[in-house]
Parts: sequence; structure tokens; C-alpha cells
Amino acid sequence: MTDLTITRLSASDAGFDDALSRLLAWDDSVDHQVNESVRHILREVKLRGDEAVMEFTAKFDQLEVASMAELEISAARLEQALDAIPSEQRDALEAAADRIRDYHQRQKQDSWQYQDADGTVLGQRVTPLDRVGLYVPGGKAAYPSSVLMNALPAKVAGVGEVIMVVPTPAGVVNDMVLAAAAIAGVDRVFTLGGAQAVGALAYGTETVPAVDKIVGPGNIFVATAKREVFGTVGIDMIAGPSEILVICDGNTDPDWIAMDLFSQAEHDEQAQSILVSPDAAFLDAVEDSIRKLVPTMERGEIIARSLSDRGALIQVKDLDEAAAVSNRIAPEHLELSVENPEQLVERIRHAGAIFMGRYTAEALGDYCAGPNHVLPTSGTARFSSPLGVYDFQKRSSLIGFSAAGAARMGQVASVLARGEGLTAHARSAEYRVDMNRDQ
Ligand code: NAD
Repeated sequence: MTDLTITRLSASDAGFDDALSRLLAWDDSVDHQVNESVRHILREVKLRGDEAVMEFTAKFDQLEVASMAELEISAARLEQALDAIPSEQRDALEAAADRIRDYHQRQKQDSWQYQDADGTVLGQRVTPLDRVGLYVPGGKAAYPSSVLMNALPAKVAGVGEVIMVVPTPAGVVNDMVLAAAAIAGVDRVFTLGGAQAVGALAYGTETVPAVDKIVGPGNIFVATAKREVFGTVGIDMIAGPSEILVICDGNTDPDWIAMDLFSQAEHDEQAQSILVSPDAAFLDAVEDSIRKLVPTMERGEIIARSLSDRGALIQVKDLDEAAAVSNRIAPEHLELSVENPEQLVERIRHAGAIFMGRYTAEALGDYCAGPNHVLPTSGTARFSSPLGVYDFQKRSSLIGFSAAGAARMGQVASVLARGEGLTAHARSAEYRVDMNRDQ
């Protein structure tokens, strides 16, 4: 197994800022070969539709079919998957779906309008997207929780049609993923993956309808394809490696904290797990727990790599300084494992999701707490938010002038338009002013 190196930093050290910057940097260099290959796949799918999609599916997923119809999973098959999985899994999926739906219903935005003194109506009309594509990764592992987290906000928003794509290497489907699609109310499912799936959703083919937005995580081919088709369709985000930052006052069981750090470290070698505490003895205890527990983990090798390359235990002077370090990092997941999280949360400015108190394991949020697990990574919590119902709604401005309002504001518009040298704008507004004078 990889040697486990645990980095210890102290916020009071002279070189702390530089050390933290080095820790946060990660390899996001663009792979030109991947770029080229994704562009080629997208071009072919745009040009040749179904035919190209079937070719790439045979090539990359070892799934040969005679017609595209074979790459669609029927609603009956989804229901069958629901019956096929163990009742324990079905109950867990349904319990998670209920809480996720319930939470997201509270995010729904409504249209609004008001009338000004002239009787002019102004407002905002909120409408759902017509059709959304949901990418569910399926190359190396299956992610039923991703199905729920991406599909349910779209359904709550009232999206007309949710189309899911999931690669099924060599035709092997995952019943739990299909069952999650059935529970979430996904409308159509295609067994497609990679850039060809993203291309099919963005441009449409004879069989796959073009969507307005593509959401969901995926590997480098999927992420690159999403970046390429952005503009033709909307996308949710391009996610970096997972991150967790735990602030602990030193009074939580060190094994709990070690396992919370592992819960992100086990995602991949580039994931980042950081503990910040004012208690030096506690940092020692967590380090001991890490060394004791890593060898017991199924994904111990990945955890050891991730902790060695990108993890750290940071000592601070107090919880205020812990909050300042956290704000600098703007983590995807932030656990406040302290006596009084309500007080500390007031000092937190940037974080994708905040887990308050010792009982709130981040893992609960990954599956079933209710809030979305699709969160901003790599410090982007400074300016962006979790995936939500609002990502599947759009807004149109409403403007309805009364005659009096058009006369009054027409004069203002006329002055501004003439100032910009736009005569048609000015005269268009002035007609409405003159109309009122004529009466
Ligand atoms: P995937 O579905 O993203 O990718 C599989 C597809 O990649 C295949 O269908 C194939 O078309 C394409 N592909 C593979 N090799 C290729 C090649 N050489 N040329 C062109 N295309 C190729 O599944 P995955 O590979 O298992 O990756 C899943 C990713 O999603 C992981 O990185 C995982 O960490 C991430 N993930 C993130 C979250 C999150 O919430 N952030 C959740 C789940 C998964």
C-alpha cells in the first residue's frame, strides 16, 4: 500500500499562506488529445446522428446494436428494475427521494408582478425548461444517488421532459440506477455514454431528442464534451475533485473525524480532505485514527494517495481563525463538528454545503438529507451555488405600459436614445408620447 504521509500545518507559521496555496492547487491542465478526440466525436454525431452514436457506443462501450431502438430502455423495463432490486434498496431510494423532493419543493420560484403609479405592469415570469438531459456516469461504477440528485430538482421545477443517458459497458445495466430513474420520474432513458451521449443530447439525432440543458457529472470525456457544447445548450457546471473541510473543536471522537475525511478521500486520488482544529492533541489523535483505519478500508489505496497528496491537518489558534482558513478555501463540503455550530456558521461566507454539529456526517448529505449533493468545487463556492430547482427554471421580464406610463417614460427613452444616436429607438418611443398629446 502507498506510504501514508500526513501533512501538518500551523496557521501561525510564516510560510502558511504559501503552503496552503500549494495544497489547494490541483492538476487541471487541458489534455489536448482528449480535446481532439471529443471534438471529433461531437462533429460526427452532429453530422451523422444515430449512425455515429451507434459506432462510438460499439467502440467505447463494447455494445453493438443493429438499431438505436435497442439503446433505449422502456418504461416497463424501469418498473421491472424497481421490482428486481432488494426491498431494502428500494425503500432506501424511496426514502431519499422523498426527502430530496421535499427539500427542493421549497426552492421553487414563482412569477411575480406589480403595478406602478401610472398603471404600468412590471414583473417576472418564471417558467421551467422544456427538455433536460441528465448524464449519469456508468463507466467504472454506478451512481443511483446522482440520478435522484439531478432528476428530482428538474421534475420539481416542472421540466417537460427529462432524458437520461447512462453508459452500459458491454450492455450490462445497473438495476439500482434504473430503479432510481423510475422513482425520480425520468421520462426516457438511453444506454449511451461519453462524448457521444453529450453530443446526441446537445444536437439531437433521429432518435435522441435535442435538449435545452445538460446536467450531471462524468469523466474527462464527458466534462470536455459539456464544455464544448455549452452555448448550444446550457450546462450545470464542470466539477473538479471532491473536497471536505472539517472544523473541529477537539471534542468529537477522532475516529468519526478520520472517517469523515475518508468519505471524500475515497472518491479519487485528487480528492481533498482537510481538518482544522485549535486543539493540537486532537490533531495527533486524528492522525493516529487515520493510520489505524486506512488499512481497514476497501478503498484504502485511494484514500492513502488522496490524503498524502492533497490532505492536511491544520492547527489554528481558535475557531475564528478556523473560519477564516475555511473562507479562504471555500470548500465544497464543510463540517462544523463543534459544540455550537449555529454560532460558528455566522462566520462562514463561502461553502457549497455546511454540515452543522457532530452528528451531521457529510455522507448523510451525499445520499438522503435532502439538499443537493451537486456542489461547487475548487473554490467556486465564492460565486456559485448547489444544483437546485432554480437551475431548471428561467425568467422572462414582463413589461406592460399604460398609455400614461408610455407617455411619461417615452420622453425619458427618447432623450437617452437620441443621446446614443439611435433614431428609430427614439421615434418609436416618441410615437407613444405624441399619441397621448393628440388625445
Ligand atoms: P463515465 O460515464 O463518465 O464515462 C464513461 C464513458 O467514457 C464511456 O461510455 C465512453 O464513451 C467514454 N470513454 C472512455 N474512454 C474513452 C476514450 N478513450 N475515448 C473516448 N471516450 C471514452 O464513467 P466513469 O469513467 O466511471 O467516470 C465517472 C466520473 O464521474 C468519475 O470521475 C467520478 O468521480 C465522477 N462522479 C462525480 C460525481 C459528483 O457528484 N461530482 C458523482 C458521481 C461520479
